[in-house]
Amino acid sequence: MSTDAPALLRVDNLKTEFSTDEGTATAVDEVSFSLAAGETLCLVGESGSGKSVTALSIMGLLADNGRITQGQVVFEGQDLVTLPESRLRTVRGNSIAMIFQEPMTSLNPVLTIGDQLSETMILHLGLTRKQARARVVDLLQKVGIPRARDVVDDYPHRLSGGMRQRAMIAMALSCEPRLIIADEPTTALDVTIQAQILKLLRDLSDEAGTAMIFITHDLGVVAEMADRVAVMYAGQVVEQTDVYTLFDEPEHPYTTALLRSIPHLTAPAGDRLAAIPGSVPSLLQMPAGCRFHERCPQAMDRCAGERPELLSTAGQGAHAVRCWLYDGAPLPKTAAAVVPA
Ligand code: SF4
Repeated sequence: MSTDAPALLRVDNLKTEFSTDEGTATAVDEVSFSLAAGETLCLVGESGSGKSVTALSIMGLLADNGRITQGQVVFEGQDLVTLPESRLRTVRGNSIAMIFQEPMTSLNPVLTIGDQLSETMILHLGLTRKQARARVVDLLQKVGIPRARDVVDDYPHRLSGGMRQRAMIAMALSCEPRLIIADEPTTALDVTIQAQILKLLRDLSDEAGTAMIFITHDLGVVAEMADRVAVMYAGQVVEQTDVYTLFDEPEHPYTTALLRSIPHLTAPAGDRLAAIPGSVPSLLQMPAGCRFHERCPQAMDRCAGERPELLSTAGQGAHAVRCWLYDGAPLPKTAAAVVPA
């Protein structure tokens, strides 16, 4: 991906909070990144790191007790945070689509696959019912669903998990979005189906030049899908770089620990995987200083009291890290989101 490619999406200094009975939970804090057309950015981290809330914040789909309290989400030049709900709905229908982990949460169980895919196209593309049905069959074939002409009249429960996820992808593609946000879309599937779905998404994105934000906790999936990666921990991006640098030269101790916790083909037999001690801090009680300091093997005195910023450690912001071990240069204020490959 060219460093000169203009940003399709720029998330800048985003903060998302939830009101709970126990207080205010800050799920996303100072999150910045950008994405060019056709590029795939993986958001990776443990559960509770803020990946999914970041996606829901971009889509304007937060639960009633959640709100964005700071920052911008600039998509094709307009800030989605300040956009009225009616216009945001149009953006969601026409330009940005989301694929969830469990398609049954998005597919309506009482509508046939054909009806629910057609509905989107009739609403957003102005197709007639007949035109939409023909396009649904095309789309189902495109995502590899056999007997597409019959499946169009099936209800979601008649399909296997893998086929439902394919139908979800067809639904996401139905309005030819410029950005797809996929939140752990293969986690619930077995390994073979997972590989097929990943390949399908990659091929479709290459073919149509669709940008993707791919959310996962699985570094194998990252290696498979990403152009660039943002590693999240406790609501913040702690490292951001291209996928090759992330695997070859990780800098943040959390990224290094994550990489040590996955099996390597070249590791000697009997080698034990290194688990990361401790757990992700509570969103209601973030530690002062670096949020990783209680689990970090390289923690220093200042780490418990002083909060590191996301700083560029390589030329022109290509690699950014939030850690006192690196004497980085501050990223320019608005370009903090832009960490090109
Ligand atoms: Fe570890 Fe300190 Fe870096 Fe945090 S700032 S990751 S505690 S070395």
